[in-house]
Amino acid sequence: MGQTPDLAALAGDWLRGVTRSGFVPGVRARARAALHDLLEELVAAVRAEPFDPAVGHRIGAELVDLRMSSPPVIGMTVRLLAERLPSFVDGNPTRVPALLETLVTGFVTAQRDAAVGAAEQMNRSEKIHWRRVQTDLQQRLQDALLHDPATGLPNAQHLRRHLAGITTGRVGLCLLSIDRYAELSDTLGQDNIAKLLTAVAHRLAGDHVLAHVGDDQFALVVDTAGPDDVIKLADRCRRALQSPFPLDGHALYIDVTAGLVEARTAGADPDHWLRDARLALGWARRDRRDHAVFESGRAEAERRRHRLAAALPSALASGEFVAHYQPLYRLTDRVIIGVETLARWQRPDGLLLPADFINLAEHTGMIRPLGRHLLEQACRQGTRWRRAGHDLLISVNLSPLQLGEPALAADVADILHRSGLPAGNLQLEITESAALTDGYAVLQQLKDLGVRLALDDFGTGWSSLATLSWLPVTTAKLAAEFITDAGAPAVTEVLRHTVGLCHALGMTVTAEGIETPGQERLLRDLGCDHGQGFHFGRPMPASVLTQRLRIARDW
Ligand code: C2E
Ligand code: CA
Ligand code: CA
Repeated sequence: MGQTPDLAALAGDWLRGVTRSGFVPGVRARARAALHDLLEELVAAVRAEPFDPAVGHRIGAELVDLRMSSPPVIGMTVRLLAERLPSFVDGNPTRVPALLETLVTGFVTAQRDAAVGAAEQMNRSEKIHWRRVQTDLQQRLQDALLHDPATGLPNAQHLRRHLAGITTGRVGLCLLSIDRYAELSDTLGQDNIAKLLTAVAHRLAGDHVLAHVGDDQFALVVDTAGPDDVIKLADRCRRALQSPFPLDGHALYIDVTAGLVEARTAGADPDHWLRDARLALGWARRDRRDHAVFESGRAEAERRRHRLAAALPSALASGEFVAHYQPLYRLTDRVIIGVETLARWQRPDGLLLPADFINLAEHTGMIRPLGRHLLEQACRQGTRWRRAGHDLLISVNLSPLQLGEPALAADVADILHRSGLPAGNLQLEITESAALTDGYAVLQQLKDLGVRLALDDFGTGWSSLATLSWLPVTTAKLAAEFITDAGAPAVTEVLRHTVGLCHALGMTVTAEGIETPGQERLLRDLGCDHGQGFHFGRPMPASVLTQRLRIARDW
């Protein structure tokens, strides 16, 4: 079993705790093995379908049988298991409290039976004694289940109950997390970390509910009138933790990051409060801010992105990614000389644009297979058009990540070969920044294949015109932003010189984002070679473009 070593460690801790809290008869190795077996049963019980908390009852009785039978022993047991057991079960950690509750009942029943025989035979004072023991144990169970053992503060479960109990007004939850906690706990050691957490808890105490909800995480709850109040609370906490903590003769400085939730409590689910605060904490960390306030809109967008990311691989396999094609026109005679391939995700509920998925594909590593798929589709379509008498330039966008792939040129050569498209009919569009970082060698290989290379969104990056002179590119695509302002006198002059320079370097110039007849005229007059934009045609499926090509030819 994968987690046996961890269970062994927990069994060891359990035995140590039991030994500290009471007399353990017999050989320690045997006691450890027995506790290990009981632990395995507990873990199995939490994971089992259907769940049966009665297992706890039997394990409580077995502890008594093993003569580990004083109230401090069961108190310690419950505390330890309440804290550690949930992390062993990927199944359903919320089942742990129910299991421990039956464990206490089983323990008490067995102990009483062992001490006085059958329950009916108890006299009145014995009954009173056992009721007291039982109440005491129930109290310990409650304490263990609702408090953090390290700081003695209320734990997450306690916090949930507290939040559930508030039904009117507005409340703010401030979740504070100690920065670089893993590093701290490695360097400080367990004892010092416990001291630090206790000191932090002490400084955070105040006129609010304070809970310790995870190793490095504290939660504070206050009444609020709006989000500002919970932000102020976070600021106060940060100030309270600013001065150093004396530890082992050193002054230790810590920083905290806060995830904040502020809302009306009516109808709110306490589980969601903590989850939302954790989400906001993640945002704060990602945005490198000291706090972030939960927003449902951002959370929904993020959930949607996660769902989309998870759906990417199967969508690619089932052919949901299709290429649309936007025509490229020669400006002198308005003839279609090529197309730009633009990715579309055809989902059952509609068509998604690249803004919704290219980034995701880049983050999940799916951009490579996706890019290859689109390149292949486009090349095959290019061959089909050629066979029908339309000798088009097929332009395909490359992600910077693809450009960093050493096998890219070999992949492209392979796809060209299999699709039957001549290399000279393929153009790959790359961005300036990608070309300037690590792409140079790959660009050279692609150029050697005979493929054309275009610098996309030219004019928006940070490179100078001079870089054009040494990059192995054949075309500059002037960014749409440039074209929008093309009519402004200063911009017109810049464009005129840019076009002139590109031509002097032997490059072709394409203007993107042409939306008006005026822009078309201006760019043609400036000597720009090709144009693309809604004015000529939006991106469309291959079949629609084929029709347009036919009409243009038969005209
Ligand atoms: P891009 O390479 O700059 O592509 C041009 C974008 O401008 C396309 O958006 C196109 O639909 C849009 N567009 C075309 N004409 C006009 C116009 O006249 N006005 C305006 N406002 N927009 C126009 P789209 O298809 O949403 O693609 C957005 C970006 O996604 C592309 O920008 C490209 O960077 C990326 N992309 C698209 N397909 C792929 C792909 O297969 N692979 C990779 N790596 N990126 C892709
Ligand atoms: Ca492009
Ligand atoms: Ca572009």
